[in-house]
Amino acid sequence: MSRSPDDLATAVTAGDSLALARAISLIEEGSPRGEALLGALYSRTGQASVIGITGPPGVGKSTLVSRLIAAFRAQDRSLGVVAVDPSSAFSGGAILGDRIRMQEHALDEGVFIRSMASRGQFGGLSRASRDAVDLIAASGRDPILVETVGVGQDEVDIVRAADTVLVVLTPGQGDDIQAIKAGLLEIADIFVINKTDQPGADRLASDLEGMLALGERTAWTPPILKTTAIDGGGVTDLVASIARHGAHLKEGDRLAERRRVGLQARFQEILRERLLERLMAGGVADGDLAGLERRVGERAIDPYTAARGIIDRMSAGRPDGTVLDHLGVAVRSVQDRVALYRDILGLDLTSVEEVEGEKVRVAMLPAGRTRIELVEPLSDDSTVARFIERRGEGIHHICFEVADLDAAMKRFGDAGLVPAGETGRPGTEGSRIAFIHPKGTGGILIELRETDDE
Ligand code: GDP
Repeated sequence: MSRSPDDLATAVTAGDSLALARAISLIEEGSPRGEALLGALYSRTGQASVIGITGPPGVGKSTLVSRLIAAFRAQDRSLGVVAVDPSSAFSGGAILGDRIRMQEHALDEGVFIRSMASRGQFGGLSRASRDAVDLIAASGRDPILVETVGVGQDEVDIVRAADTVLVVLTPGQGDDIQAIKAGLLEIADIFVINKTDQPGADRLASDLEGMLALGERTAWTPPILKTTAIDGGGVTDLVASIARHGAHLKEGDRLAERRRVGLQARFQEILRERLLERLMAGGVADGDLAGLERRVGERAIDPYTAARGIIDRMSAGRPDGTVLDHLGVAVRSVQDRVALYRDILGLDLTSVEEVEGEKVRVAMLPAGRTRIELVEPLSDDSTVARFIERRGEGIHHICFEVADLDAAMKRFGDAGLVPAGETGRPGTEGSRIAFIHPKGTGGILIELRETDDE
């Protein structure tokens, strides 16, 4: 079944779970259709409260989420759950098996549950999970619970994007809060001490209180709640506490401000991801990147230089394939003609240079990924002067960049094409150049310019 993006968007906003699941898959795959869909639905996002639940493995997050689902369902709210678990892709059944606890809600149309485990080549898990939250919000579900294991930085970042963050801990785990991953405690809006049926909950609570007393005073002091997720103990209080935090955010522009910061981070992440993708797709061959990584690792090259090298190549649009370096235009006078390109077309004049061997003056004007080269003869016996005499001003040659001039010339030679003039003579910017005679190329004088891969 394949629906048009419009149909799918309509079905998502109507709350259709299958359409929503399909939409999230498109986003997860990073497909352009998924992006278009998100774009179409974007104005409908942002309505739902997003509640993040994180904490070390085994503290009872899934059990607690299941309890929260039941509590919100009892309020007749239809809701969404995004369970982010990058480790389950590797550990397989074990962790997903635990999710069976949530499956008791699987048949309830009022609950949409989505597990996200695949970490793509470029990370992307946090991107995809935030997009999933948006799509679920667009489907009218509210609240949306986002559960992650508070282990890796990614997972912490994902949950940090929520409006209200619950950090779940258990007594006896690591015994003191020093052992808890740095960064996890700081993001809590509400602390949940789960498994209070086990000893040590009071000690953990007072440790947390001590830590909070040391921190700076803010408008919201994270409350410390105690739950027993296996029998639902304390869950009602937790739900009330979540509501209080929601109300606190709605005072002034706290919620808007919190979300603004999150959206900016998300934008930056997408940008980073896309640049990296583009780099891999065309800009830099895998081997190049691996080579650079190796050299950085060996301290043979500093990381800034390595990064700059790659970015330069990318922004110049110079992958390993052949690139149109410039279009050569024969002009009687650079000075007279430059106005058209610089003043009217708005190109930058980056250099004017005399190439002695060719008896020409050359002006370079970058135009997107290529350049316009104005070539003015400096002597009547230059080939450009003869060209103008015969054919008037106009396009004189097209120049391709090649990594290895001699190898390229051999390819032309093998195809029966002949050089015009000497191969490897000096061109602009210290490059080595060669020309292919137009008689074999359909009337085009082709210049080849060797990249100076410093
Ligand atoms: P998660 O890894 O944080 O999602 O933790 P789970 O929800 O999968 O729970 C891990 C284990 O702890 C399971 O065996 C649960 O039954 C158990 N558990 C969860 N909540 C409690 C609790 O309040 N008390 C006790 N004793 N065990 C609990």
